[in-house]
Amino acid sequence: MTDKLLNSLRVKPGSTVEVSKHDTRATFGWDKDEAKAELQEVVARIDVLQERLYAEATRSVLLVIQAMDAAGKDGTVRGILSGLNPAGVSVTSFKAPGGRETQHDYLWRVHEVAPAKGTIGVFNRSHYEDVLVVRVRNFVPPAVWRKRYDQIVAFERLLHDEGTRVVKVFLNVSKDEQAQRFRDRVADPTKRWKFREGDLEDRKLWPQFMKAYDAALSKTSTAHAPWYVVPADRNWVRNLVVAKILLATLEDMDPQIPEPTIDPASIVIE
Ligand code: ADP
Repeated sequence: MTDKLLNSLRVKPGSTVEVSKHDTRATFGWDKDEAKAELQEVVARIDVLQERLYAEATRSVLLVIQAMDAAGKDGTVRGILSGLNPAGVSVTSFKAPGGRETQHDYLWRVHEVAPAKGTIGVFNRSHYEDVLVVRVRNFVPPAVWRKRYDQIVAFERLLHDEGTRVVKVFLNVSKDEQAQRFRDRVADPTKRWKFREGDLEDRKLWPQFMKAYDAALSKTSTAHAPWYVVPADRNWVRNLVVAKILLATLEDMDPQIPEPTIDPASIVIE
């Protein structure tokens, strides 16, 4: 069942995706309370596998999260990772590059924070900004960003070949739902800090962003680093889907606790 669901959300390598044609409000027949309970079970299973991954200490997982503003990147990180051992998880939020970052190629700052062996790394935004906002806002000429899809595929292949499982989720929120969430943010003094006026500038460029997402997902969803389009108008659906994707990735990796290097019978603890 889960396999079928995840398969239907995965962008098949070589296919052309149009994210605006995907249902952002899908519930897959789930009930909200049951889905919330199931999330806790899925997270508990991720936790067991995370510990094995840590003990094995030879491989890692990279979960890339991309989305328009207010789609719930932060909520997804909180919803899924808060049940895990913090020692085995790293979260990196990517902002517009500054300082030394601007003096290097766009992947320089990314490679440095790729997850260490034995850990799960989550990117809240990522190197994909360099073919999304950078493309939409013309921060570099087309001749520069056009080459980046192949470069990203090659970079993710390198990570994969060296033991990092790369899995990427696009949290697909609708423009109407984003408007509602922006209104809620502005109205709520405890959430207002999250709102930037630049968010409205990006919102005006919605069609251009969707086009850029379509291109990014179509050109960079590979067998070794697949993209998933996750319906994100309902937080509880979004969280459960992303948790299931992470769990399926870990189950497929099947990390093993290493063979003991000691004979327990020979150990005397006084
Ligand atoms: P978030 O929206 O992720 O919670 P911010 O409100 O600080 O956090 O937004 C981060 C901003 O950084 C976004 O507008 C994003 O487009 C921008 N950004 C991230 N990476 C890059 C990049 N490589 N080039 C340009 N802008 C970027």
